[in-house]
Amino acid sequence: MFDNLSDKLDKAFHILKGHGKITEVNVAETLKEVRRALLDADVNFKIAKDFTTKVKEKAIGQDVLTTLQPGQLLVKLVKDELTELMGGDVAGINLSGNPTVILMAGLQGSGKTTFSGKLANYLLTKKNKKPLLVACDIYRPAAIQQLYVVGDSIGVEVYSEPENKNPVEIAQNAIKHAKANGFNVVIVDTAGRLAVDAEMMDEIERVHKAIQPQETLFVVDAMTGQDAVNTAKTFNERLNFDGVILTKLDGDTRGGAAISIKSVVNKPIKFVGTGEKMDAIDVFYPIRMAERILGMGDVVSLVERAQEQFDEEEARKIQKKIAKNEFGFDDFLSQIQQVKKMGNMKDLVGMIPGASKAMKDVEIEDDAFKHIEAIIHSMTPIERSKPALIDVKRKARIAKGSGTKIEQVNQLMKQFDQMSKMMKMMQGPGGKNLMKMMGG
Ligand code: GDP
Repeated sequence: MFDNLSDKLDKAFHILKGHGKITEVNVAETLKEVRRALLDADVNFKIAKDFTTKVKEKAIGQDVLTTLQPGQLLVKLVKDELTELMGGDVAGINLSGNPTVILMAGLQGSGKTTFSGKLANYLLTKKNKKPLLVACDIYRPAAIQQLYVVGDSIGVEVYSEPENKNPVEIAQNAIKHAKANGFNVVIVDTAGRLAVDAEMMDEIERVHKAIQPQETLFVVDAMTGQDAVNTAKTFNERLNFDGVILTKLDGDTRGGAAISIKSVVNKPIKFVGTGEKMDAIDVFYPIRMAERILGMGDVVSLVERAQEQFDEEEARKIQKKIAKNEFGFDDFLSQIQQVKKMGNMKDLVGMIPGASKAMKDVEIEDDAFKHIEAIIHSMTPIERSKPALIDVKRKARIAKGSGTKIEQVNQLMKQFDQMSKMMKMMQGPGGKNLMKMMGG
């Protein structure tokens, strides 16, 4: 995410290395580079200029600080300003209605339908809500069908009236249906066009007026950069929406939209989409995003994700197995499943401080565990529980069955062996000492 921008900012800060004190000259030079990096990331010209002016004013006033290295001080000022620019505090979602009505707006292809599903799934699994999805696209039957596919995949009901050509009526009927059937959130997915047009704007404005949503969310594809910001402006003038959803942040986005949109429309980014799957949704935290942009990682999110996936019962089961020397490949596989649930590898690596930079040239596969899983699936149940049985002949069979090379099977066996040994050690008396040393 935003690798190019991170890289350029990092280079800009190098200018200050070795200087004892922040002077106007070296600050100006660094900030010129910062501005260039922002412009390259497709940040609006005026925003980039104001940004560096503000940082400069703050930096010059602070050369008395001796506890920090000037480079670090400037990085901190840039981080604070980036956080501020992206909205400062995290913006929550208003769920006070009964039912809460959420209207999704945006261009076709921005990711509205996908995000409607992600939001429904988020509210269902994380907020204990009973959401209803509403298909209000009267032009494209395929769009209605797509919402059904999404709804099915997450177990959320979809409301539609395929024969009705009046989106206002459909939305109103859906809300009645929700009230009568105990749904407490209604997510209305509307029609989108490939570009802003008058008819679409009139239509969504009518729906907006009629259903008075608690939340009107504008969905925009982050890959479209400055176009995203301009579309946001147009939609905001008509709908006065409550928040922005930035989708496709997992792609090769330059970052301009994320950085500029808040200050142009003065509406916060509430969520971001980071993939096509239903759980690829994140609450947007400006400070965490600023830290990621500056290559500081996002340890808080990483730990949160790990905690979300942590299954205490499973952990206890595994512990017992290790103690009894029964840890096998099936357990290994279930550990991999847990890690996978935390998100895709590229995204996770991006959250580790410094890792993005260190692994810049390493090609990370989206499905980094593909080969390992294939190898384990090619083992028989007995082999999985008693890996010691796997001899050369069996290895050759497993490699053939999984479409891998025998070296890959050997490598996995070795990794598994090392991991088992290490886990055993952590459990023994040595492990307890280690825990004590770490303050546990
Ligand atoms: P809509 O026309 O606004 O309803 O857009 P869709 O929900 O149909 O999304 C358009 C395309 O973008 C689909 O192929 C989605 O799978 C894809 N998409 C949506 N959100 C994301 C995201 O966060 N990341 C990625 N990589 N793809 C996304």
